Amino acid sequence: MARIVMKFGGTSMAGTERIRRVAQIVKRQAERGDEVAVVVSAMAGETDRLVNFCREANPLYDPAEYDVVVASGEQVTSGLLAITLQALGCKARSWLGWQLPIHTDNAHAKARIGTIDSEELLASMAGGTIAVIPGFQGLTDDNRITTLGRGGSDTSAVAVAAAVKADRCDIYTDVDGVYTTDPRIVSRARKLKAVTYEEMLELASVGSKVLQTRSVGLAMKEGVRVQVLSSFIDENAPSADTIPGTMIVTDEELENAQVERQLITGIAADKNEAKITLTRVPDRPGAVSHIFAPLAESNINVDMIIQNVGRDKGETDVTFTVPQADLARATDVLQNQREAIGYNRLIPDTKVAKISVVGVGMKSHAGVASTMFTALAERKINIQAISTSEIKVSVLIDEDETELAVRVLHTAYGLDAD
Ligand code: ADP
Ligand code: ASP
Ligand code: MG
Repeated sequence: MARIVMKFGGTSMAGTERIRRVAQIVKRQAERGDEVAVVVSAMAGETDRLVNFCREANPLYDPAEYDVVVASGEQVTSGLLAITLQALGCKARSWLGWQLPIHTDNAHAKARIGTIDSEELLASMAGGTIAVIPGFQGLTDDNRITTLGRGGSDTSAVAVAAAVKADRCDIYTDVDGVYTTDPRIVSRARKLKAVTYEEMLELASVGSKVLQTRSVGLAMKEGVRVQVLSSFIDENAPSADTIPGTMIVTDEELENAQVERQLITGIAADKNEAKITLTRVPDRPGAVSHIFAPLAESNINVDMIIQNVGRDKGETDVTFTVPQADLARATDVLQNQREAIGYNRLIPDTKVAKISVVGVGMKSHAGVASTMFTALAERKINIQAISTSEIKVSVLIDEDETELAVRVLHTAYGLDAD
């Protein structure tokens, strides 16, 4: 007997027909004699719909109330899956985020999970009842509903897996594993048998939305075994236990599996960033902290930053990126700080995309960045900003060139499938 956490994403839960397929997969796992907890997303498109309601109500909405609204999508699907499992003759019940509870901090709309009370859950699972848990939801110490940020159900699943000490956390989605790049953009993308936690963490953090970044970080910290696989499988598909998807592994495991390592593991694109340029900022010590300290206080994550060399009159332009979802808030904060910062104009730009190449091989090989710049230059794709880490190079480009850039780079690094 094993203890398995299964997570199903929005596309897999979109409508009662698909939920029935999900219930079949869950039932099959339970029939092996395993203890099963299922974490579910809202139906595809539902969270977007709910987010839009909040924006329409007030673009500067209260994040605590936003959470009350957007957490509801998962409540619906968890109840529906429990009903459907029962219809198939399984014992099942739902456990909402506040009922377990899943304790989080109070950073609304992007809350972080602390602990999960799992005693009752474990007792119920041990009694043969399938636990159905809505992803994305949590509860603060003062009993307010929170959500974990977009794509957060992955993190719920890993956190539940860690709390119940699951043998494995299977993330069922609409593709059959992790690919060298988004297979919906590049048809010649290749499926990876295994990817290391470190590489997956970096890929996720630069926009490979197949797993939420925090879910990978948490899996790495807690040693949760995570597998990504497709929920669109037929009756005769091999069971999840024979590992048909992509396994997230340690460096050591990857070496033992003798999977041939490429210099570049994957390429990711992120269209959810927005660029802000502040013109004519005074070029003196402290100026930059006047920009970024208030943004940090408002919980807005700044990613790429460029400060140009000061031009005449001791002034310079500062350009940086923030999540598009935080643009209205960031603009508001910066306009309030205009005198303290002393800039001339604030120019927002949402028509940008960040393209990143990721690979542990970069640590020991030079030339990865120059291959990127040359390949983009040959297609006349202009680079607006650059950032690097030990195993990643990212560039900011015009959003319209996203697909072209990803394809060109996929070929340039020799990743195309034959
Ligand atoms: P879910 O609703 O199941 O959580 P998501 O839409 O969040 O699914 O994530 C799955 C999607 O991630 C795929 O449909 C695919 O388009 C996208 N994706 C981006 N990069 C990759 C990658 N490297 N490998 C696989 N899928 C990727
Ligand atoms: N429903 C949430 C979202 O769309 C959480 C998730 O699906 O992971 O972001
Ligand atoms: Mg997702």
